[in-house]
Amino acid sequence: MSFKIGLEIHVALPTKTKLFCSCNAYNEQEPNISICPICMGFPGSKPMLNKKALELAKSVANALNSKINNQISFERKIYFYPDLPKSYQITQLEYPIANDGYIELLDLNKKINIRRIQLEEDPAKIIHEEEFSLIDFNRSGRPLLEIVTEPDILNLDELKEFLNELKSILYYLGIDINIELKVDLNISYDSERVEIKNITGTRNIINAAIYEMKRQTKIKESGHQIHKQTRSYDENQVITIALREKETEEEYGFIYESDLSKYDIKNIEYIQPVFASKIAKEISLKHNANEELIREQIMFDSSALKLINLFSNKYPINLIVNAIQILKKYNKILDNNKFEKLINLISQNILINQDLLEKIEQNNEINSTKPIDQKLIDTAINNLINKNQKLLDDYEKNNKVFNFIIGQIVKEYNTNPKYVSERLNELLSKTIKKSK
Ligand SMILES: [Zn+2]
Repeated sequence: MSFKIGLEIHVALPTKTKLFCSCNAYNEQEPNISICPICMGFPGSKPMLNKKALELAKSVANALNSKINNQISFERKIYFYPDLPKSYQITQLEYPIANDGYIELLDLNKKINIRRIQLEEDPAKIIHEEEFSLIDFNRSGRPLLEIVTEPDILNLDELKEFLNELKSILYYLGIDINIELKVDLNISYDSERVEIKNITGTRNIINAAIYEMKRQTKIKESGHQIHKQTRSYDENQVITIALREKETEEEYGFIYESDLSKYDIKNIEYIQPVFASKIAKEISLKHNANEELIREQIMFDSSALKLINLFSNKYPINLIVNAIQILKKYNKILDNNKFEKLINLISQNILINQDLLEKIEQNNEINSTKPIDQKLIDTAINNLINKNQKLLDDYEKNNKVFNFIIGQIVKEYNTNPKYVSERLNELLSKTIKKSK
């Protein structure tokens, strides 16, 4: 049994203005306030390309290791639908921003290939009421970057890792990950391709894939054929629904967009990428620390990465990560000096609570501190040991369970990981002696 999954991902680029006009790209205060003849497709209006969108597109293309075309062109994709009054969408066909890239999934030791990366305009939004429909043009002409992968993703682990990796790369390029990714998901079993259109958000993408793989497996197992199809995803019922038998690319008409010239983008600047998972791996190897924990802190947090870079040669990495976790837990930001003070307090096995954090934050004198309550920590550790009986059998081999328990305690009690690790070792050796 083997599935192949490919994605067409639409990323809204955070530009001030739209892709081909100077309207505000993200003005949602009320419908149809950010519009002009260009983004409403009036006859005679002429598009002008947004340079910032080009910079961002090139930055993504570069981060995804792709071959960037020196010269790009735009095409009109012709179709009739109310969200597109000029009856075509400006997109790219012949010379897109880039081709042939990849994203590396370090944990799974795998590359997911990227077929193409192209710029296009978002259509308007249709709001369906019971007896009529309304159209909001605020979104019309918003810059979208479409990233098309090869069908290289073979299972859910790869899909999750891919989405996480892509979102982290986009985050570090300054592309807001709160604007959720919009994805068309292709899932094929053998040869017939089923496409699920317009899924928004990581959780929905994963759930749609789970449902669709189960559905196709069932069809195969009952000896039937899977049909080439376009489906939609219903996030309330968590199912995919057949829309139509699949139309092919040829059914769209494409013509060259003569209102836009060919663009030479060789000299367009781009932002250098940050690969957080790679950095997490390097740090963990260099300092012999828990890679997963570091990754969790820095994938979507550039200030955590800065703190780790700044202090990792001076303090044990686990201590720094612990301090970052505490800041996140209480939603605090400290400057470097105060952060160092926090690290020092943790290393002295002092109980860190909100009160103490506020004292550090306000530079107040810290005169009374409480040490960590060993009894409390021991009880918590024993509870977790009892819940994870397997740990007793092979805890020396199984670092993961060991780290999991330390992580849990550190998170809950804001304690020094070294201290917890020592207590855990001692309690385990006692328990094991007892059980022998
Ligand atoms: Zn406009």
